[in-house]
Amino acid sequence: MAAPIPTDKVMDKEYSNWLKVTLALYYMKSGMHAFIQNEVDCLHKFLVQKIYGGNTVPLPPCTTCRAHLVRRNKYNGIWTFKEDCKSYCDVWLHELLALHTNPKSEKIYWDNSDVAQWPFSPWECAKVFMPRGQPPSNVGPAQCDAQAMLTMLANCKHFHQKFSPQGLGLTYAVS
Ligand SMILES: [Zn+2]
Repeated sequence: MAAPIPTDKVMDKEYSNWLKVTLALYYMKSGMHAFIQNEVDCLHKFLVQKIYGGNTVPLPPCTTCRAHLVRRNKYNGIWTFKEDCKSYCDVWLHELLALHTNPKSEKIYWDNSDVAQWPFSPWECAKVFMPRGQPPSNVGPAQCDAQAMLTMLANCKHFHQKFSPQGLGLTYAVS
């Protein structure tokens, strides 16, 4: 069992405010898990149909494209794979960028996700919209921290059909 919080700590206004914000973020995020998972799944299904013209993803997955091979042209800000893909990774890259609020930003962290899993894992696509340094253990809303989730909501235009980011006080391209 966790130790009780000392009374003098609770009486401290700064500590008390920090605790309130922490709890508010925790409950806000927990309450959104099902909604977020459902929306990420729907978006992925839409992308699979758009890219492949049906519900099935052709196998095998690409074995050459990796996140560190995505490059940004410093003159026009356009992201591409360093080499041509023999599968569909470049099409996925194009579609994910089309959903980004700031597709030419240098603060898109491809290393967050496993490129080879884009056709199969909705959450690997979602991680493209999150801040730098998402760990492999971030496999869904429950394992994602509040900052990463809010950043995804701000950066992915799909969610802007569901609510106004400004209304939630979210800023764009949070890094
Ligand atoms: Zn590829």
